[in-house]
Amino acid sequence: MEIKGQVAFITGGARGIGKAIAGAFAELGCNIVIADIDPELSSRTAGEIKEAGVDSLAVQIDVSSSVSVSSAFKSVMEKFGRIDILVNNAGITKDNVIIRMKEEDWDAVLNINLKGVFLCSKEAIRIMSKQRYGRIVNIASVVAFMGNPGQANYSASKAGIIGLTKTTAKEYASRGITANAVAPGFIVTAMTDALSDHVKQEMKKAIPAGEFGTVQDVANAVVFLSLPESGYITGQVVHVNGGMYM
Ligand code: NDP
Repeated sequence: MEIKGQVAFITGGARGIGKAIAGAFAELGCNIVIADIDPELSSRTAGEIKEAGVDSLAVQIDVSSSVSVSSAFKSVMEKFGRIDILVNNAGITKDNVIIRMKEEDWDAVLNINLKGVFLCSKEAIRIMSKQRYGRIVNIASVVAFMGNPGQANYSASKAGIIGLTKTTAKEYASRGITANAVAPGFIVTAMTDALSDHVKQEMKKAIPAGEFGTVQDVANAVVFLSLPESGYITGQVVHVNGGMYM
């Protein structure tokens, strides 16, 4: 089995880290599903992906809604007939210290970041079980392991992903499905670009590598875990953080 020609489904794939992951799979000849809440940006990204000479499909999805998730997976199966790789990348933040954090902000972050992984994995596992083959990669975060002031909801959702990943790995290893997590540290994205130079310098002091990571660093780890040759790696967390947590 080779990765070329496989179908990779990336949630939150329209921009940021998800877009880089989609591009990395396209370079290896995978057909790509950009599953994102923003339909216009998804279509634009799917169009750019086609320039790599592979097929791509944009589907609108709200990962926190079971109805939306079912309908997105149905459209993908109608077009491609299989899903080999699922990357649960969609995620949001709604930061505040605990006593000021609104219940609705707790719920929104848990619903998208954690329940979304459950709902998409459930759909994918049904398909992958029949295929007796699948790769699931869940995007967590270094804050799942270190905590972060102002991110009670986000760090709890990302820590939840680790337990969910390990359980998925145990339940479906016998079906040829692996489940792993990638935990990025600080990555250069619109979010980190918005920080002041002073804050950036302070943050970099905590990173032995002395720099923020790139979206490509995260994509490389995701691709590695998704290779057919990585079938004996399951239930693991790959940290991509320049040594900031080990
Ligand atoms: P972005 O915000 O750039 O991209 C996330 C994408 O997910 C957006 O296109 C967003 O759409 C989409 N999205 C949001 N809500 C939903 C939903 N309900 N259903 C489907 N798609 C949705 O994030 P990043 O690229 O920075 O992060 C990607 C992942 O990596 C996230 O899980 C994040 O937690 C994780 N991560 C990021 C780090 C970083 O430094 N950036 C560090 C550690 C982890 P829209 O923009 O319209 O909301």
